[in-house]
Amino acid sequence: MNEYLKKVLEETNTKNSNELEFLQAVEEVLTSLEPVIDNHPEFEKIALLERLVEPERIITFRVPWQNDNGDVIVNRGFRVQFSSLIGPYKGGLRFDKTVNQSIMKFLAFEQIFKNALTGLPIGGAKGGSDFDPKGKSDNEIMRFCQSFMTELQRHIGQDIDVPAGDIGVGEREIGYLFGQYKRIKDIYEGGVLTGKGLSYGGSLARKEATGYGLIYFMREMLKANGNQTLAGKTVTISGSGNVAIYACEKAYEYGAKVVAMSDSQGCIYDKNGINLDTIKQIKEVERGRIKEYQDYHKDAEYFERQNDDSPIWNIKTDIALPCATQNELTLNSAKKLVANGVIAVGEGANMPTVKEGIEYFLQNNILFAPGKAANAGGVATSAIEMSQNSMRYYMTFKEVDKKLDTIMVNIFNSCKNYAEKYKLGNNYVAGANIAAFYKLAEAIKAQGFV
Ligand code: NDP
Repeated sequence: MNEYLKKVLEETNTKNSNELEFLQAVEEVLTSLEPVIDNHPEFEKIALLERLVEPERIITFRVPWQNDNGDVIVNRGFRVQFSSLIGPYKGGLRFDKTVNQSIMKFLAFEQIFKNALTGLPIGGAKGGSDFDPKGKSDNEIMRFCQSFMTELQRHIGQDIDVPAGDIGVGEREIGYLFGQYKRIKDIYEGGVLTGKGLSYGGSLARKEATGYGLIYFMREMLKANGNQTLAGKTVTISGSGNVAIYACEKAYEYGAKVVAMSDSQGCIYDKNGINLDTIKQIKEVERGRIKEYQDYHKDAEYFERQNDDSPIWNIKTDIALPCATQNELTLNSAKKLVANGVIAVGEGANMPTVKEGIEYFLQNNILFAPGKAANAGGVATSAIEMSQNSMRYYMTFKEVDKKLDTIMVNIFNSCKNYAEKYKLGNNYVAGANIAAFYKLAEAIKAQGFV
């Protein structure tokens, strides 16, 4: 391996030895940059990689709140402001009991590259809390969000840092966070949060954007490899949250048949094709479990999760879309999918496939769409929401969706062109990393020692 790369990887490992997810994300990116670093010895003199892997700032804070029984609970809040090189910090908030600094840093690091790929002026960040929203009442969620924002408001602003949703943070939570921000700051600052409700500054098509964007990327990838289409293909989608639901909707629009979806406890298989209205009712309206799908569709089968390998990846499919969480697709699962004839995998979630799984797919010539490129439609549309807020203007659904489609086509082409330029075939993982890296490296060089 290139000596400079090796040195930076070793230093990063030593400094962050207990942050496994962060190290996984850094290793994936840096190792794929080897052909670029080989050609640019001058990067070492300006410590370009060292600067790229060190966050500009990490904020952690106490979030005390009261539950419905009157007990006071203390959670930990985070905001990792990783890079403001190409725009204000931008990235979602995650409320989940697994949240820790390593997960926040890996997500923020990925976000820098993803945001660079969109071609829009947004830096990289991520935040959240180890608060577990499952089973909480609406009032508890509101009190938690208000307490979280009471601290976070010091660190954000429409030209400073613009959070959005992620796991456990949807339109309801963004509403409570926005309300508290407005109350404390005494200002209507629409662009300070994205993913807002339509009644107070949200953008049409933001809710759909990550899932739709994933399918636009998949459409382009299939087209570029043998002029294939989604029509008639079977699809399995892990998760049943925001990303999964709208990936399912768009996959159906292109004539594919979605046969399985999941949540953290198990998956349902419906050979007749998943009924998306039922999923929306269970997940968006009732906030229930996917198991309840069987109450509506007696033919469907339910497989409970037994271990790290989600049962959804045992199901035969042409296209697999991991849209739940990090490291949900193990090497075992990758082998199962390949043995069952999968032709393409598209990551809707962030880093859902383990490193060995990605390698296995690439070795077996499976088309692989990496999350930082394939799920960038969400943040791209958030940036479009920010523009609308600045212009005091609303675009139609069609206008936003068209922009999203164009952005996804451009992102795919960047991944493809850089993979080809470096003779990496259709390795879009490396293509995405290299394309984003070029943009970031330019900005680092231009801005001096910051
Ligand atoms: P949601 O909270 O809406 O949905 C998350 C889904 O994933 C739920 O079905 C949840 O099931 C499932 N899930 C969560 N943890 C696990 C686990 N450990 N194992 C299996 N399933 C799990 O989140 P989003 O749809 O917004 O986000 C999903 C992924 O997409 C995340 O990786 C996120 O970072 C990424 N992403 C999201 C974007 C967005 O715009 N929302 C943009 C780009 C990426 P359960 O209900 O049982 O917890």
